[in-house]
Amino acid sequence: MTPDDSYSPRVQLNLNARGLPQSATLAINERCAAMRREGRSVFRMGLGQSPFPVPEPVVEALRANSHQKDYLPVKGLPELRQAIVDYLHRHEGLSFSADHVLVGPGTKELMFIVQLVYYGDLVIPTPSWVSYAPQAHIIGRHLRWLPTHPETGLGVTPEALDALCRVDPDRPRLLILNSPGNPTGSAYAVEQLQAIAEVARRYRVLVLSDEIYSGLHFEGKHVSIARFYPEGTIISNGLSKWCGAGGWRLGALAFPRSLTWLLEPMASVASETFTSTSAPIQYAAVRAFEGGPEIEHYLTQCRRILRAIAHYTWESVRAVGAVATEPKGGFYLFPNFDPLRERLASRGITTSEQLCLHLLEDTGVACLPGEAFGRPLDELSVRLALVDFDGQKALEAAESLPEGTDPDNEFLRRHCGDVVEAVDRLCAWVS
Ligand code: GLU
Repeated sequence: MTPDDSYSPRVQLNLNARGLPQSATLAINERCAAMRREGRSVFRMGLGQSPFPVPEPVVEALRANSHQKDYLPVKGLPELRQAIVDYLHRHEGLSFSADHVLVGPGTKELMFIVQLVYYGDLVIPTPSWVSYAPQAHIIGRHLRWLPTHPETGLGVTPEALDALCRVDPDRPRLLILNSPGNPTGSAYAVEQLQAIAEVARRYRVLVLSDEIYSGLHFEGKHVSIARFYPEGTIISNGLSKWCGAGGWRLGALAFPRSLTWLLEPMASVASETFTSTSAPIQYAAVRAFEGGPEIEHYLTQCRRILRAIAHYTWESVRAVGAVATEPKGGFYLFPNFDPLRERLASRGITTSEQLCLHLLEDTGVACLPGEAFGRPLDELSVRLALVDFDGQKALEAAESLPEGTDPDNEFLRRHCGDVVEAVDRLCAWVS
């Protein structure tokens, strides 16, 4: 008899966790791994994981600090908080104070704590990254989706935000703004940020600016909304995307002084939950946020490669009739195949979920349905994570490209073969 045989548990689940599926990004990753174990070939366009290695100076800093073993302060290693403040000053011209930075095991965890501690509705555009909405659901917050338009990059518009807030102007609200964006790859222009900032200020909306892809803006010209609404914006950034270190789990939030009232209880929740973030990783992160020529060069090369892949994909999907906004940064594209609706319906495909399932079965290309990002179920949109290639090899090959030129299709076929093959298969299949 095993211990389990005599135990009959009473199943008691928090209502908000009942029926909660695993996050779509992680579930697709595990599905791909299982298919590969079965010997099937799979193109991994599901999970958005950087294909590039962590820059060598940062890896070296981690090696040198592997002996660090003590708990660190709840808000984070003071040198790291200062390095983040300096980074934001260099890149955005903004002045934060080191004691207004909160470091955590990934920005995902920190965003969850923002939603837990701040008492207000969550406001996000449709489409948005897969985890913002489930976090609101787990905590029991109201969720309001903002309508979007392809002409404005499927992002937040000041008009939509104003229309929502006007109905009940004093209601507390948290807007998450993600630029460059997941899943669309688009980035807000300065005028758009200014206009959104104006509305946010009018209704005192708290803005959480998710800038995890800032270093991967294709032109290296990321602009934070905090420049235009400093008193009401929390900046979120970390090592997962531009530093290629998703599995290291390190993120941070920077707060203006006007939001000390939110930061301090968040730090208390952190102290009662994750305690502090891994010490060796925090020491290594200091090196990442310090930057310098080697890391700048790494970023320039990553951006060149990602820009070329994104444009190859953007042109390919539009050539077969899909609609997609121009990618400006990061590693995603969000094509909508609605114009091919009739043809796909004749193959039994009427939802984004079915589109992804059939695509995976028929071609081995794994991607995520638009529905996981808050799009209507019957819209035929999918998110492509353009990351299935060996980033180390691509970076080495990019060294021989003349300065100022982008990799051509020949380069992409040779050095980013799987992602090109996946895009070609997808396009041939929908045609
Ligand atoms: N942000 C990545 C994505 O959207 C994966 C990380 C995660 O979901 O935790 O695919």
